[in-house]
Amino acid sequence: MNNDLIATNIAKVLQQVSSAVEKYQREPASVTVMAVSKTQPADAVRSAAAIGMTDFGENYLQEALEKIETCSDLAVTWHFIGPIQSNKTRPIAAHFDWVHSVDREKLLRRLSEQRDPSLAPLNVCIQVNVSQEPSKSGVAPEELPKLLDLAADLPNLRLRGLMAIPAPAEGFTAQKQSCDALASLFADARQKHPSMDTLSMGMSADMEAAIAAGSTILRIGTAIFGARQV
Ligand SMILES: *Cc1c(COP(=O)(O)O)cnc(C)c1O
Repeated sequence: MNNDLIATNIAKVLQQVSSAVEKYQREPASVTVMAVSKTQPADAVRSAAAIGMTDFGENYLQEALEKIETCSDLAVTWHFIGPIQSNKTRPIAAHFDWVHSVDREKLLRRLSEQRDPSLAPLNVCIQVNVSQEPSKSGVAPEELPKLLDLAADLPNLRLRGLMAIPAPAEGFTAQKQSCDALASLFADARQKHPSMDTLSMGMSADMEAAIAAGSTILRIGTAIFGARQV
């Protein structure tokens, strides 16, 4: 996809976000758009960064590490949002600013051990399986409190919030229901961990519902970069 198209798409997404922010009376500064650049070339990241995008999300570790290296001259924030194998935590701890897809104790412990203490703490969101799909990543809601306590205790990590990838749903009402479910877990979690400030939800197809439900970081791929290259 060329530069102009990426710029047009970003303008469109930001416009949709700002109308939803207004409609649902959200604070404009409280909603960030992360550009999900998985499968896209480093040039696509450059194009998006050149017009002001600061946050990029990646799912596939090897691909991400190459892109981060190639783009090391850019002042951008990298978010790991894909499934994590426990033997792959070290490069994540070393090269990312954020991880949104932590869903078990072992990952938390390893990420904390492997994060260089001279770096800023690694920002962590716990992924929750809100739709309770047996095959999906994410911790079950009942097991969330234990994981939050551990994340808050470990050195070299900063517990920031919750993330979910709800089962695809058609229409605002159904989408908002899943987003509300995560928002409600987030509200509960903040009773005990008031410094949590991040609700990572909303993708290209459910941005509006996510904003209505309180998302603070939207993860937008297709609507910015077009269909993914495979
Ligand atoms: C791919 C992906 C996205 C972006 O999805 P789009 O529908 O392309 O906007 C967001 N979050 C996660 C975890 C993803 O894997």
